Amino acid sequence: AAAATAAEGPIIPSVAVNYTQLLINGQFVDAASGKTFPTCDPRTGEVIANVAEGDVEDINRAVSAARKAFDNGPWPKMTAYERSKIMLHFADLIEKHNDEIATLETWDNGKPYDQAAKIEVPMVARIFRYYAGWADKIHGLVVPADGQHHVQTLHEPIGVAGQIIPWNFPLLMFAWKVGPALACGNTVVIKTAEQTPLTALYAAKLFHEAGLPEGVLNVISGFGPTAGAALASHMDVDKLAFTGSTETGKVVLELAARSNLKPVTLELGGKSPFIVCEDADIDKAVELAHFALFFNQGQCCCAGSRTYVHERVYDEFIEKAKERAVKRLVGDPFKEGIEQGPQVDSEQFQKILKCIRSGIEDGATLEAGGERFGTKGYYIKPTVFSNVKDEMLIARDEIFGPVQSILKFKDYDEVIHRANNTRYGLAAGVFTQNLETANILTRALHAGTVWINCFDVFDAAIPFGGYKMSGHGREKGIYSLSNYLQVKAVVTPLKNP
Ligand code: ADP
Repeated sequence: AAAATAAEGPIIPSVAVNYTQLLINGQFVDAASGKTFPTCDPRTGEVIANVAEGDVEDINRAVSAARKAFDNGPWPKMTAYERSKIMLHFADLIEKHNDEIATLETWDNGKPYDQAAKIEVPMVARIFRYYAGWADKIHGLVVPADGQHHVQTLHEPIGVAGQIIPWNFPLLMFAWKVGPALACGNTVVIKTAEQTPLTALYAAKLFHEAGLPEGVLNVISGFGPTAGAALASHMDVDKLAFTGSTETGKVVLELAARSNLKPVTLELGGKSPFIVCEDADIDKAVELAHFALFFNQGQCCCAGSRTYVHERVYDEFIEKAKERAVKRLVGDPFKEGIEQGPQVDSEQFQKILKCIRSGIEDGATLEAGGERFGTKGYYIKPTVFSNVKDEMLIARDEIFGPVQSILKFKDYDEVIHRANNTRYGLAAGVFTQNLETANILTRALHAGTVWINCFDVFDAAIPFGGYKMSGHGREKGIYSLSNYLQVKAVVTPLKNP
């Protein structure tokens, strides 16, 4: 999809940006205020398009469309098989438009085009097929209660789901949220991240082409404190799902509690340990630890951002990790072979550079990178710190950028304690050839996912979510369905009274 390469400067994408309005009740409409905001190309900071800026009134309009589609049908009143077929048709359309969608995703977000086109967009189709498969397999139980009663449970949709998503995997996060909500028969109002509004609008248009009835899925572009907060605190939203920072997670949980006590699922930040044991094949461990941190420009909530390395292999590991980071190909994400594009925006770019400065000031050893790459856009050189101590900010706070912090450990009890000594608990990585070590670490780590000798393996069926301040609830897999279902107990006497 990427077309002509300019002699100088960024590759010009060949896809037109056709959808920039809000999608409410099956129609593209302007914001009630008439306002727009720019969404920018992180390679240059230049404006890609001006997008309608949703606010309270637009959220109200979207929620009332979703309410109507839920209460009067047709969505929850259609058969599950009919809903499933629309979702499958949508997945086909995603596949058909794979390259256009991937182009918009890379343009808006800065991630390597190949990653968007070969991994993420195909995964979006996979997720919708997975949930289409669940739609007609959701059912309750017959319960063997004491006494002369027939007792059954009905699993019903909750109603209008409000969903707020981040910018690091714009369309994948859309899929993780919208897939289970619709499969269970709910209707949706989703607010995309202000940095990356384009692909959700495109996808939602395709969903309507696939036969989705109006009002079932409404997409609002806009900012957090306005549109996002209006959704979280709306009295007519029955369930809220949020992915973003822990700080904002606290805000939306409070808004939900103060309004109508809607149940909330939260996917929040992380500071995941990646533990390299003494028996590890060092070359492989270096490569996997590198991937665990640098994938997606380091913009992953589950990034392996505390690389704990056993003292016996520490020096060799540092040398090789540094070599690998220096070799990482940074550049225009539309260019073939590029491993790392720009960070998403100027705010993230500045925040990451500030974290890097704090690492240097705190006395960690800068092994590689440490500064911007080039002179334009939001590129940062792959950065590696050694001699990192647990109490340093770079080892405690989420950096969300291409900054690897390497820490030394001596024995397993110590590393378990240190790995768990964080407010987060999203994921952990263990690299070892010893089964016993793997088992011991796996049981001891407080994390929603433990990847052994692998990292960032995301399948539609694998549940994902956090312990501690990394969140509430699980997305994907069978576990995600319970986020979007009510359980109704129905009790009938066996004999008429
Ligand atoms: P980041 O700092 O990485 O942008 P955020 O948690 O701030 O992460 O953003 C994730 C999502 O939450 C975005 O869609 C953003 O607009 C939204 N958001 C931010 N602040 C609020 C808020 N006060 N209320 C509701 N949503 C918010």
